[in-house]
Amino acid sequence: EKRWETQVLRTAPRQSISRSESMAAMSIRHGCWTAISRKRPLHFALFPSPAIDAGRPILSIVKRGILGGTFDPPHIAHLIAGEASYRQLGLDLVSFVPAGDPWQKSDSSVSAAEHRWQMTLLSVDPIPYFVADDLEIRREGPTYTVETVEAFPDDELVLILGADAALGIRSWHRWQELLEIVDLAVAPRPGVGRHEVEHAVPKPIEWLDMAPIDVSATDVRERARKGLSIRFYVRESVWHYVQEHRVYG
Ligand code: ATP
Repeated sequence: EKRWETQVLRTAPRQSISRSESMAAMSIRHGCWTAISRKRPLHFALFPSPAIDAGRPILSIVKRGILGGTFDPPHIAHLIAGEASYRQLGLDLVSFVPAGDPWQKSDSSVSAAEHRWQMTLLSVDPIPYFVADDLEIRREGPTYTVETVEAFPDDELVLILGADAALGIRSWHRWQELLEIVDLAVAPRPGVGRHEVEHAVPKPIEWLDMAPIDVSATDVRERARKGLSIRFYVRESVWHYVQEHRVYG
């Protein structure tokens, strides 16, 4: 049996490592240790190799899915899309990135970033390959996906989108550059045809193998506002959080 040593390797400049950095998750994938941090710059994977036994670790590129959204609240379709991407694309981890200032939704009222961040943290816990990243919330002004993906220059990136979002991708800020950086994984969504999406996206896409789920955060908020149960639409912990903090009245 092979002996794997876990090692903490710093791959980022000192100033870019947050004070609260911590090695937050250690997961085993394909019999290898993949050590990841909830804070972005510390990311690496240690893969099995004779070199490890010889005391020389091999750094390997992390394959990261990025699932951005308003997450008001994060619901089961987000989680199932993240899970499907992880399994289907052999990702090392999936980063859930709540938007700070959703520029395409600026006319509607969005819950406080703090609530959305807390609900995102609760949604990813304790799944070792799901992480929440607050980089968009910490950034001032509008948040653009291209800038978010540029924050992970060392990773191989897969952008995870719902079919509705994929349809509009050519309206996004610097979309050509974005599509050069990322591969696309698209979750089917009721009412959006596959051909329509393939026609709208000028790049091959990976369709996620999951049932189309007719749930949106808008529906979940409306249910909560009407006093209807949102249990099982969201993680149990999020359901409690929404009640405790009266996020939706
Ligand atoms: P809202 O109803 O507030 O507009 P939403 O449910 O669409 O929200 P967002 O947080 O805006 O959720 O979406 C984040 C990402 O998840 C987007 O790419 C969106 O297309 C995708 N997504 C959301 N709901 C679904 C769903 N039911 N099926 C597939 N993808 C979804």
